[in-house]
Amino acid sequence: MQSPETCPECGADWSDGQTCQDRFHQMLFWEAERPEIGVVHHLMVLCHHLQHPSLYSEDGLRYSRKLLDDFVANGVTPEEARRRNREAVSSENRHWKVTARPDSVGAYERPIHWTMTSADVVARGIDNYVHSVGEWAQSVYDALRAADEADARS
Ligand SMILES: [Zn+2]
Repeated sequence: MQSPETCPECGADWSDGQTCQDRFHQMLFWEAERPEIGVVHHLMVLCHHLQHPSLYSEDGLRYSRKLLDDFVANGVTPEEARRRNREAVSSENRHWKVTARPDSVGAYERPIHWTMTSADVVARGIDNYVHSVGEWAQSVYDALRAADEADARS
């Protein structure tokens, strides 16, 4: 079987042999190499997962969209989000799982038109990483908002 040329979830180009999973690991590697660029780690992990919703359970996807809203639109810091959500997500209180399981796999109601993917972030290189991830997070936020608005109209 021939491997796909583009990602079935986010639409990123895989023709250079790099999958989204490979790029996710590349970005983690960069963050390990230069700890100062890890300031955007929370956004990178969220963007990667939100563009691959099948990694999440349905509840996990909902929760993570809310988290992205908090970071991008409401200027919440990762520390603040952690503190605020500690109650909600502590394992004793949480009756749902973040990651996908056979009976609950995250999905969007309709295909989302992503304008940027991890392929763009990786292509721009480690020196632009912090800026690129910020732009990526904004683009993911905008794409999800646009889809919500289209849903509201239909
Ligand atoms: Zn992808």
